[in-house]
Amino acid sequence: MSTGEAGHTGPVLGIESTAHTASVGIVEDGARVLGLASDMYRPPAGGIHPREAANHHVELLPRLVRQALDAAHVDPAEIEAVAFAQGPGLGPCLRAGATVARMLSLAWSKPLVPVNHCVAHVEIARVLSGLEDPLLLYASGGNTQVIAYGRGRYRVLGETLDIGIGNFLDKLWIELGGTFPGGPALELEARQGSELVELPYSVHGMDVAFSGMLTAAITYHRRGVARPDLAYSVESTAYAMLTEITERALAHRRRDAVVLGGGVACNERLRTMVRTMVEERGGTMFAPPRAMCVDNGAMIAWTGRMAHRAGVSVPVESSAVEPRQRTDLVPTPWRAG
Ligand code: AMP
Ligand code: MG
Repeated sequence: MSTGEAGHTGPVLGIESTAHTASVGIVEDGARVLGLASDMYRPPAGGIHPREAANHHVELLPRLVRQALDAAHVDPAEIEAVAFAQGPGLGPCLRAGATVARMLSLAWSKPLVPVNHCVAHVEIARVLSGLEDPLLLYASGGNTQVIAYGRGRYRVLGETLDIGIGNFLDKLWIELGGTFPGGPALELEARQGSELVELPYSVHGMDVAFSGMLTAAITYHRRGVARPDLAYSVESTAYAMLTEITERALAHRRRDAVVLGGGVACNERLRTMVRTMVEERGGTMFAPPRAMCVDNGAMIAWTGRMAHRAGVSVPVESSAVEPRQRTDLVPTPWRAG
């Protein structure tokens, strides 16, 4: 990784392909999104198969690059750098995005900037909120983490010990007879529910676990508990768990601001529960618009822009993806000082 001069400045193009979403964003100063083109892989049945999702990305990304450039009215010559999500994520999906980013970087002679996907969720929420140093509740398909900045890195204060909250909701919904993605469908179903059935509430310090709740919910379903009541109970329990660990992290880190990120952060109930908790403590909660909560190329471009201005870039030869990249191992020189 080099830390030389940023050189030419202009809009940054960012590519996101960590999981089911292929997305290209073009962003300039102030996180103004000039162009954003996304397409989500939707498996015909069951969950995401990494290879099939990657094939989808390979097929769609060239077109998404074109669409984003057209929407932005930007010529490749004006682009400052090409950023890509280096990890964490599904290997084949990450490689699809990274390959496109490397080719654009070579073809356009632009610096290549690796970006950590989780850090990008924090950074887009941070700039949109105007909050200086908020804590992030990142609730997505594969990730469930409470993240805060401290001593030069973003630190994971708490996280899921088994599956991500979104994967849990998706798996459950498929068991209940639905199709991927489950979160939005469960949200609608839960609005019709009112009976609370008791589910495993699994909080361990600032960590959570969902597999026990998944098993219990499937068992209730087989015993004939109505789907709306089950959805209502699952949302109540799972989101209370997330709210609790967020509150614990706020207290321990002496913070008063929370931002949300990840697809599950689209959920109204979760937003309300976290907002209520934060405001009762006299703090501030910010939930970005849904297009900026879900995986998107704009957050990669924005974070890549800050990283590049702080001197970060990698040669193509050493730009390997890192499917298990840890949030707290990624340098964030733009936050120094
Ligand atoms: P991401 O991995 O951040 O792109 O988010 C995808 C996940 O968000 C999937 O597991 C979806 O089921 C979930 N999701 C999307 N919208 C909602 C919603 N309104 N409520 C709960 N989960 C949601
Ligand atoms: Mg994500």
